[in-house]
Amino acid sequence: MHFELKRKLRIYVSLFLSLLLLSAVAPRQQSAQQELGLVDKQNRARLHQALIDLTNPFTVLCVAAHPDDEDGSTLTVLRRKYGVHTVSLFSTYGEGGQNAVGPELYEELGVIRARETMAAAEVQGSEPHFLGLRDFGFSKTAEETFRAWGEKEALRRMVFQIRRLRPDAIITNHDTTTGHGHHQATGRLILQAFDAAADPKQFPEQLNQVGVWQAQRLFVRAPRREAQATAQVTQKQFTIDPNEADPFRETTYAQQALAALQKHATQGPWPKTVAAGGARIIRYNLVREATGVAALPDNAKTPIDGLRLPESISSAFHIPTIDNKPLTEFVDKKDEVLISLVNARKHGAFTASRDVMDLDPPRFQLMSSRLDAALAVAADVGITAETDEPVFVPGAPAKISAVLGNGGEVDVQIKRVDITAFGSEHRVATADKMLPETETTALYETTTPKTASLSVPSDAHLYDGQLFGQPVVARAELAVGDATFVITSQIQRDVAPPVQILSVDPPVYVSTPASSQKPLEFKVRLINRMAGEFKGLLRVLGSSLETGREIVLGAHSSDVFSLSVRQALPITRRIQSGSELGITVDLPNPKSPIDKRKVKLIYADALVAPELVVGYLPSFDQTLSRSLAALNVNAKELKVSDVASGDLSKFSTIVLDIRSYEAHPELLPVNDRLLKFVENGGTLLVFYHKTDEWNPDDRRQRPQLAPYPLTLSDDRVTQEDAPVWFLQPRHPLLNSPNRITQADFANWVQERGLYFPKEWDSHYAALLSTNDKGEPPLHGGLLVAPYGKGNYIYTSLVWYRQLRAGIPGGYRFFANMISYGNRKTEASRANDQ
Ligand SMILES: [Zn+2]
Repeated sequence: MHFELKRKLRIYVSLFLSLLLLSAVAPRQQSAQQELGLVDKQNRARLHQALIDLTNPFTVLCVAAHPDDEDGSTLTVLRRKYGVHTVSLFSTYGEGGQNAVGPELYEELGVIRARETMAAAEVQGSEPHFLGLRDFGFSKTAEETFRAWGEKEALRRMVFQIRRLRPDAIITNHDTTTGHGHHQATGRLILQAFDAAADPKQFPEQLNQVGVWQAQRLFVRAPRREAQATAQVTQKQFTIDPNEADPFRETTYAQQALAALQKHATQGPWPKTVAAGGARIIRYNLVREATGVAALPDNAKTPIDGLRLPESISSAFHIPTIDNKPLTEFVDKKDEVLISLVNARKHGAFTASRDVMDLDPPRFQLMSSRLDAALAVAADVGITAETDEPVFVPGAPAKISAVLGNGGEVDVQIKRVDITAFGSEHRVATADKMLPETETTALYETTTPKTASLSVPSDAHLYDGQLFGQPVVARAELAVGDATFVITSQIQRDVAPPVQILSVDPPVYVSTPASSQKPLEFKVRLINRMAGEFKGLLRVLGSSLETGREIVLGAHSSDVFSLSVRQALPITRRIQSGSELGITVDLPNPKSPIDKRKVKLIYADALVAPELVVGYLPSFDQTLSRSLAALNVNAKELKVSDVASGDLSKFSTIVLDIRSYEAHPELLPVNDRLLKFVENGGTLLVFYHKTDEWNPDDRRQRPQLAPYPLTLSDDRVTQEDAPVWFLQPRHPLLNSPNRITQADFANWVQERGLYFPKEWDSHYAALLSTNDKGEPPLHGGLLVAPYGKGNYIYTSLVWYRQLRAGIPGGYRFFANMISYGNRKTEASRANDQ
C-alpha cells in the first residue's frame, strides 16, 4: 500500500508538475519497475531543468510569422542546455493554410494551430504568444501583407509584446525579402520593433501598462547555402548544433525539436526521424545590436554569449551552489539540493534592495519564480487547478479546486491557497500541512457570473482575446523549514451556454435548380452541459419561415438531431446572396433562445448533365459530398478499395479531392485502374496537389500519375480577384451545361490556385489563364485531355475553397467538370433552353 501510494504520487506529481520534455510515452502495459524507472528519469530531468534555469537570467524571443516557423531546435537547445528563458511570438495563428489531418479551415484551423503551437512549445520548453494578425492565405510580398494587417497596427502589437516579454536577444527565421509575404512582413516588423520598443515616443499609450524595452541583440537566421559555406561569412554569428545528446532525456536536442514539430500535425506530414546524417547546423547572423552592448564573441554558441547584466543586478543574483559546485552536479542528491535551495531562499538569493530591484523588477520576478519552481521540484510538491465541469456555464454553480501533492520526504506547510477565477482572487480554506506522500484539495465553490462572456464556438473568438475562455489560477504559498515558496497552476475553461449547438451540417446551404424543390435538411449536433435532462425546441427561423421540433437531450450528453424544412421554401432564384437562416435551441416556455447559429443560404444556377453517376474520393473534409448533394447528383463516396477492385464502369465521372495521393498513399499502386476507367470512357477530375505529392519520383515509387506527362511547379495565384482569361472560349467545358462567364469568377475566396502545372503534354488543352498583378500569366490552371474513350481533367484552381464557401461560380464550373464527356450533356442543355 505504501509503495503503491508513493508510486501513484510520484506519477501524479510528474504529470502535473511537468515542465520537461516527455520524449518517450509510457506504454500501458509496462511493469511497475519500468514505470518507476521512467518516472525517476523524468524527475531527474525536471530537477536538472529547474537548477540550470537558476543559472540563466536571460530571455530569448523567437519571432515567427506562422505556427511551425519558430526555430524549435534553437529554442530547445537554449532552454534545455542553457536554462535560457525562451518565449516565442507568432504574427498569426496560421489559419490561412491547409489542413493535412482534418476538415477544419480558416478560423477553425487557427484554433487547432494555436493548440498545436502550445503543445510544441511545451516540448521545446518555451512559452508561446500571438499577435493575432489575420492569416489571409499565401501572399507574395510584404506590401500585400501590410495592406491586410495594417503596418502600424502590426508594429504596435509587436512593440507591445517586446515591451511585455523583455527579451535580451531576439531571433527570427525571417528576412525581409524572401519567402511568403507574411514572413517578409514579419522580418521587417521585427527590425522596426527592435528600435521602436525602446523609444518612449513610439506608442506612448502603452507605457501605462509596460515600460520601454531595449533588446540587446537581434539575429536573423543565415541562409542555408551560407551556413554550409562558412568561409563566406562576414557577419557575426552564433551557431547551434542540435545533434548533441541531452544527457537527461536520452535523446538529442534535434530529436526533441522534431517531436515538437510533429505537434504541428495540420501542417504535416513531418519526417518520422532525424535525418541519418544529423540535423542541420543552425547559424544566425547578428543584424542589430543596442549601443554599448558587449560584443558577440567569436564562435558564440548562443545569442546571449557575452551579455552582462548591470553590476548591481548581477551581484544580487547569488546562484546557489554546494561546495562551490553548481547544483546541476547534484541531481542525484535531491536532499542536499533541497537544503541548498532552502538556504538560498532564506538568504535572499535573487532579491536586493528596493532601488536595485526597481531597476528591472520583471527580471527579479523571473529568477525568484525560478527559485520557487526549483524548491517545488526538489521538495517534490505540486499543484494543479481543476474544475468539476469541462466548461463554465453562466449562472450555473462552478467548483474549482487546487489539488496539492507532496511526493517528497519532508513535511510541507501550507501557508495559504488562493484561487483566481472570473477576474478576482479568493483565499480558500485548506489543511495547514502536507505530510510526505499525501495530497490535499482546497475547494472554491462559486457561481459563474451571468455576465461571463461566452467563448464558444472557439473559432468565433480567435481574435477577441476570449480564445479558450476564462483563465483559472490556483496558487499556494508553501514552506519547507523556514523557506517560503509559491507554486501555481493555470488552466483555461471555455464559457458555454447550458445547451450548445456544436455544429450545423451543412454550414452553408447551397441550392441549385435540381435541389431547390427538395426540403432543406440539416443535421444539428447539440450538447447538454447541465446535470439534468433538457427538454426544449430546435428551430429554424428565416424570412417568412419558421419551423422546429421538440427535443430531449439527457444530462451531460451530446446527440445529432435532424431538422427538415418541408414548407414552401424561401430558396428560389430570387434569393439574394447574403440571405440566412437562424438555427436556435430554445427553452420551450417561454420560447427563449439558448444558443444560435446562422446558416447562409445561397442559390447557384448550376445545371448538371442528367443521369450522371459520380464517384468521389474525399481527402480531408465533406466539401465534395455536400457539393454533389447540392447539385442533386447521384453520387457515391469511394474508398481506395473501391478503386482497387470495385466496378468503376457504373460511374460516369470520378472526382479525386485535393491532395488525394497524399491523403491516400495506397492510391498510388492502383492508379492504373483510374486511367483504365478513363480509357473506357469515364471522366476523371483531379483537384490540386502539391509538387512533392505529384511529380514523378523514383525514390517514392511514384510514376507519372496522369495519362500524359504533366509536371507541377510551386507557382501560385494568391489574389482571389486576379483576372481570368478564357484561352479557348468555345471549348465545351466552358459552355456546357453552364455557359461560364467572368461573373463565375467573382467573389472568390482566399486565392485562385496553387501548384500550377509548369509543363504538360500537347494532348492537354489549357482553357484558362490567370496571374497575380505584375507576374507572367499561368496557363495550366485547368487542363483537359481526351484519353481512350474518356477524358482526364487536372485543375490547380482552388475549387474546394469556393465550393465550401458557397460561391455560385464554383458550383457552375464544378457542374461542368463533372458533366464533361457525358454524352447526354448536350441534350440536357438543349432541353433546358
Ligand atoms: Zn510560415
